[in-house]
Amino acid sequence: MSSHVSSAYAFRRDFITKPIFALARGVLPQMSDTEREALEAGDVWWDADLFTGNPDWSKLLGYPQAVLTPEEQAFLHGPVDELCKMLDDWKINWELRDLPAEVWDFIKNQKFFGMIIPKEFGGLGFSPYAHSEVVRKISSRSLAAAVTVMVPNSLGPGELLMRFGTEDQQRRWLPRLAEGREIPCFGLTSPEAGSDAASMIDSGIVCKGNFEGRDVLGLRLNWHKRYITLGPVSTLLGLAFKAYDPDHLVGEKEDLGITVALIPTHLPGVEIGHRHLPSMQVFQNGPNWGRDVFIPLDYIIGGQERLGQGWKMLMTALAAGRGISLPSLSAAGAAFAARTTGAYARIREQFNVPIGKFEGIEEPLARIAGTTYLLDAARRLTCAALNQGCHPAVISGIMKLHATERMRIVIDDAMDIHGGKAVIDGPQNYLGSLYRSVPVGITVEGANILTRNLIVFGQGAIRAHPYLLDEMNALGDADRARGLDAFDKAFWKHIGHSLTTMFRAWGRSWSGGVFAPAPDAGAATKFYRQLSRYSANFALCADMALLTLGGALKRKEMLSARFGDILSELYLLSAALKRWEDEGRQMADFAALEWCMASGFRAIENRFAEILANLPNRFVAFVLKFLIQPFGARVVGPSDVVVHRCAQLVLEPSDARDRLTPDLSHVDDDRGVARLERAFLLVTGIEDIAKRMRAAHVRDWRDAVKKGIITEGEGDKLAAAHEAVAKVIEVDDFAPEALSPIYKKPADVHQFFQELGETRVAS
Ligand SMILES: Cc1cc2nc3c(=O)[nH]c(=O)nc-3n(C[C@H](O)[C@H](O)[C@H](O)COP(=O)(O)OP(=O)(O)OC[C@H]3O[C@@H](n4cnc5c(N)ncnc54)[C@H](O)[C@@H]3O)c2cc1C
Repeated sequence: MSSHVSSAYAFRRDFITKPIFALARGVLPQMSDTEREALEAGDVWWDADLFTGNPDWSKLLGYPQAVLTPEEQAFLHGPVDELCKMLDDWKINWELRDLPAEVWDFIKNQKFFGMIIPKEFGGLGFSPYAHSEVVRKISSRSLAAAVTVMVPNSLGPGELLMRFGTEDQQRRWLPRLAEGREIPCFGLTSPEAGSDAASMIDSGIVCKGNFEGRDVLGLRLNWHKRYITLGPVSTLLGLAFKAYDPDHLVGEKEDLGITVALIPTHLPGVEIGHRHLPSMQVFQNGPNWGRDVFIPLDYIIGGQERLGQGWKMLMTALAAGRGISLPSLSAAGAAFAARTTGAYARIREQFNVPIGKFEGIEEPLARIAGTTYLLDAARRLTCAALNQGCHPAVISGIMKLHATERMRIVIDDAMDIHGGKAVIDGPQNYLGSLYRSVPVGITVEGANILTRNLIVFGQGAIRAHPYLLDEMNALGDADRARGLDAFDKAFWKHIGHSLTTMFRAWGRSWSGGVFAPAPDAGAATKFYRQLSRYSANFALCADMALLTLGGALKRKEMLSARFGDILSELYLLSAALKRWEDEGRQMADFAALEWCMASGFRAIENRFAEILANLPNRFVAFVLKFLIQPFGARVVGPSDVVVHRCAQLVLEPSDARDRLTPDLSHVDDDRGVARLERAFLLVTGIEDIAKRMRAAHVRDWRDAVKKGIITEGEGDKLAAAHEAVAKVIEVDDFAPEALSPIYKKPADVHQFFQELGETRVAS
C-alpha cells in the first residue's frame, strides 16, 4: 500500500509537477536582496488567518487583551499627566518653536526616552501597549512633544541595540539612552533616496585608521541625510550606509551591503545642519552630513559580523515600530477630534439649533465617531500581538497606512464641522496643529501611497498566504531535486486549498453569508458571518490574481492596492469585533460597531468590483464575478438611522462617549479644550430648560424668567452656559505688529514721523 502511495506520489511529482516547476522557475520574478529581506522581516499573525479564507474566530477572541501593569498605569497618571500640564502647544509652536528647556529636562529625567529599554539597562521596560498609551496621551496635548518622545522609542539606536547590539554595546549605550544622556536619531533618508531608501549613495569604506589614539580597522564614512527627526539635537546618530571593502580587509566581498552603525555626533567630520520646519511642526528635524568620518568596526550595531546586514535589521525593527508610534498618534488624534467636535457640534447653535442636530453634520460626525472606534480597536489588537512578542510585519504596515490615512479623514471632518473656529489660528484653536501635522504621518515610515500600492498586499500575499512562500522558496532552491520535492508538496496542497476556497466563496456569496461560520456573539454574530464570507472571497480572488498575473502583479499597483485595502478592512473590522467583545458587548456602543461594519463592507464590496472589472484575464474575472458578485457591489454603507445613532455617541456626555475617547489628556486650564469641555457639560445640563424656552418661543433667558417659564436659578444656569459657550466660540486676533515685523505700532509710526520731521529740519 505504502509503496503504491509513494509511487503515485513519485509519478505526480515527476510527470505533473516537474513541468509546472520548470515553467514557474522560469517566470519567477527576480528579487533583490533588499526586497527579499523586507519580505522576510517580522512575523505573521491574524493576517495569516484572514488569508486562509476561513478565519478561526475563536483564535481572535482568545488573544489576551493588552493591559497595563500597575507600574505602567502609575506612570500614565503620574509623569505623563505632569508632562501634559507643562505643555502649551501654542507657545511651543509659535513662540518658542521648540519644547521649553524644562520640558526637555523632564522628559529626560523621567526616562521618557527609555520606555522600551529593559530595566536592567536603566530603562522603564514598558510593554508595547504602555508605550502606545503614553504616546497617545501626549499626542492629545502636543504633537511636538509626542513626536519627541516617540522617536527614541521607535526605530533607532535604542531598538536596534536591544535586538542586535553586542553585549558591550548594550552595556555602554543603553543606560545612557535610557537616562537621556544621549539623544538618539536615525538617519536613513537621503536626498536621492527617499521611498527607495536602499538606493542610498552614502558610503562606508573599510580601512585602517586611528581612533582615539588606537590604530584600528574601521570605516571611513561619507553621507548626506535629511529629514532626520531629533537630528539637530542628537548626540548619537544611528546611520545607514552602504559598506564597501575594496582592499579586502575583512573578506573576499567588495560590496558588503547596507550596514547600520552608531555615530557619536561629536566625531570629527560630522556636521549637524540647520532645522527643517515640517508642516510648521516644531519637533526637531533636520539634515546632517559626514565627511570622512572614521569609526572602528565595533561601532557597527552588532559588531563586524553584522556588516552588510543593516537592511534586514531595519526591516525587522520596522515590523514592530510601525505598529506602535503613528497608530497611537493617529488614534489619539481621532479620539481628540471625536471628543472636541462632538462637544462643539452640541454647543454651537445656528438657526437656533445645535449644529450637531443637522443631518448634514451628523454624517461627518458619525464618520469621526465610527473611525475613532475602529482605529483604537485596531491599535489595541496590534498592541496585543506586540505584547505577545510577535512582530507582525504586514499588520504593522496596515496600521501605519490606515491609521494615518483615516486620521486625515477624521481631522478634515472635524475642521469642516468647526467652520471658522478651527480655521483661525491662535491659542484657542485646538485643531490647527493636528490638521497641519497630518502630512507628516502620511509621509514618514513608508509613505502611504507606496505602502498601499506595494507593501500591504505585496508582502501580505507572500508572508500571510498559507502556501506561497513555501512555493517560492522551493522554486528558488539551488538544489533542484530538493526544490522539486518541496514544491510538489506545497503546490498540491495549494491546489486543494484553492478548490476548497472556491466552493466556500461561492456558497457563502450566493447564500448572502447567512450560513458562514461565526461565533455566538449576540447582535454582532451577523458581522462575523459577513467577514467569513469576504475572507473566502479574498482568498479566492488573491489566488486567481497570483495565478494569472504571477510576478507581474507587483507592477499592477492599482490591483495590488485594492487587494491590500480588502485585507486591511478584514483586519480592522476583526479588531472592531474583538473590541466589542472585550468591552463586554456594550449595546450603547453598537451604533459605532454597525457604522464600522457597514462602511467596511461597502469598501470591501467596491474593491472586489474594481478588481473584477480590471483583472487582465477576463475569463477568470468573469468566473470570479459569477462566483462571488453576480449582481455587483451591493452594500451601500451605513443607513441614515445608523449614522444618526453613531453621531449621538459624541453629542451627549455618556459612558459611551468616555469609552470612545478614554485617557486623553485633560488639563484644567483656560485654553480651548478645557473651555469646551466646561461649556459642553453646562449646555447638556440645561437641556430641559432650553427645551421649555424653545417651546415658548422665548430666546432671551431674562425674558423667560420674567414670564415665569423658567426659575431664577435656572436662569443663572443658562447664563453660565451662555457665558461658557461665548468663551468657546471666541477666536484669537493679533495686533498686526505681533504677526509681522513690517507693521509698526501706531505709537512707533507717530515717533517715526516725528523723527523723520526732526531729521528734515536738521538737514
Ligand atoms: C517630518 C519628517 C520626518 C522624518 N523623519 C525621518 C527620520 O527620522 N529618519 C529618516 O531616515 N527619515 C525620515 N523621514 C523621511 C521619510 O521616511 C521619507 O520622507 C519617506 O520615506 C518618503 O521619501 P520622500 O519624502 O523622499 O518621498 P519620495 O520617495 O520622493 O516619494 C514621493 C511619492 O511617491 C510615492 N512612491 C514612491 N515610490 C512608489 C512606488 N513604487 N509606488 C507608488 N508610489 C510610490 C510615495 O509614496 C510618495 O507619495 C522623515 C520625513 C519627514 C517629512
